[in-house]
Amino acid sequence: MFSISGCVVFSVILLLSVQNSSGYDEYHKSQRNIYRHSMPQNRQEVTSTHWVNEAQSAIEARLKYAQPRGRARNVVMFLGDGMSVPTLAAARTLLGQRENRTGEESNLFFETFPTVGLAKTYCVDSQIPDSACTATAYLCGVKANRGTLGVTAAVPRWDCPASVDTSSHLESIAAWALADGRDAGIVTTARVTHASPAGAYANVANRDWENDAQVHADQYDPELCRDIAYQLVHTYPGNQFKVILGGGRREFLPNDVIDEEGSSGRRSDGRHLIEEWQMDKIMRNVSYQYVWNREQLLSVNNDLPDYLLGLFEASHLQYNMQANNYTEPTLAELTETAIRSLSRNDKGFFLFVEGGRIDHAHHDNQVELALDETIELSRAVNRAAELLAEDDSLIVVTSDHAHVMAFNGYTHRGGDILGPSDTTGDDGVPYMTLSYTNGPGYRPYVNNQRVDITREENYRDLEWRSHAEIPLESETHGGEDVAVFAWGPHNSMFSGMYEQNQIPHLMAYAAWLSLKDYILCERDGAKKNTNGVLSRAARDVSIMRGATYRTDSSQAHRAPRRAHVACHASLRAEPLATLRHGHRAHLRL
Ligand SMILES: [Zn+2]
Repeated sequence: MFSISGCVVFSVILLLSVQNSSGYDEYHKSQRNIYRHSMPQNRQEVTSTHWVNEAQSAIEARLKYAQPRGRARNVVMFLGDGMSVPTLAAARTLLGQRENRTGEESNLFFETFPTVGLAKTYCVDSQIPDSACTATAYLCGVKANRGTLGVTAAVPRWDCPASVDTSSHLESIAAWALADGRDAGIVTTARVTHASPAGAYANVANRDWENDAQVHADQYDPELCRDIAYQLVHTYPGNQFKVILGGGRREFLPNDVIDEEGSSGRRSDGRHLIEEWQMDKIMRNVSYQYVWNREQLLSVNNDLPDYLLGLFEASHLQYNMQANNYTEPTLAELTETAIRSLSRNDKGFFLFVEGGRIDHAHHDNQVELALDETIELSRAVNRAAELLAEDDSLIVVTSDHAHVMAFNGYTHRGGDILGPSDTTGDDGVPYMTLSYTNGPGYRPYVNNQRVDITREENYRDLEWRSHAEIPLESETHGGEDVAVFAWGPHNSMFSGMYEQNQIPHLMAYAAWLSLKDYILCERDGAKKNTNGVLSRAARDVSIMRGATYRTDSSQAHRAPRRAHVACHASLRAEPLATLRHGHRAHLRL
């Protein structure tokens, strides 16, 4: 009897732990038990050099047609998570209709940018990607496996031991900017530890490892594979970010600590990472401030500290249409504070800004919220363009992946974008102009007949779900291309059709940044010690210099130098200093 109940208890614990590890993110439930890792047909795709060389060749080819000009001192990258091309068309129509126009002729702010391109979003092991492998592509310049962040495709998802091998680690354009003496920061309406912003600073085999308890839940040692919140506070480059603004307090607090708004932390290691972030700044003798509501954020604009951390919710920020506007800042307000803070560095900065909740609303088939969040992103881009000069600041707006919202039917010009199509289905039942292929908006047939959604009691309420064909707890991403809009120096380089991982290389080109100060050399530098962990010496040997994108002083542009594959035995600081010196002299600074 004892053993049976013990067995039951064990099974429950096991079940809970499996649910825990596979369901941390309500919108992106991962099923480790059915995860199928496949090696790419071209084995070179698991290396960073493959993707870097591919991007460099494409840039060389593009120089034949593009008209590069100027130098981007500042780079701001805006990411609409899940902002598919149909989402743009629907959001601009809603924007116009809110202004009492027909709507279709309207533009989101960034749709007026001079250049637009299309990016292919697939990842190394997935036709349809997630926000982690895509963040690795558009921030680190290398395609990777779904669910992984800041590591090459040599690391399968959940493979903690593989991710410890630093030869798989990638650096983001935020680190490239820091290495050049510029500043860097992140802003998001999601948790700051969520997949998109984490692409700027984390090296991790599973995007769900936002706190140490999640690493434990997958049976790994958080001391070996550090969680994402820990990495943001304690490791490079996150610990050098001048601005970190978003949600996600719970990932930074122990599970017995209640935050400012009554939610408990999720950490099991007892660490209070917000205090540790502050302590780190005290030790470095720099000014700092932690804020957690809108009033504090707005007042900090008057006397900006060197380092600013703002965590405005326990998890993601509220949707704009549901937020308390007195306590929660808008994305435009967050963006403004970040730009004001980072602009104090004369050398410039890299800022990543994410409208993170477009994706979440789509996953719930709540289309009005998805479109409104897209309009909020547009407002934030508008604010950035007001604050920055077009001749020295590059703004890039894109998305990580599509969704399965269809913009369909034959509605008349000016028809309500959130309403039903003018025509019914062949069954005589209405359908929505914006509907989904799959998701929780599925309605079971009644008497063998589709239900008339327009007669539902909560029809068109904010949280009403548009209808979906296939029942799914969470609607899926889509596999089609995403748009890339560019404004500022070298914007013409962003035209055309390209792989998503080219985006940071293009931004680095425009900013005259060293494209990659260091690429870890997987080929012959990475020698492991007996524990499978790279020794310091082996790690140093594994560092190789990448290519530098730069222009000569006469503004005549030349092709980027191809990454050479020699592995330097020197320490990091030495080639960096040489590079900086060379770069400065070259630019006559
Ligand atoms: Zn998603």
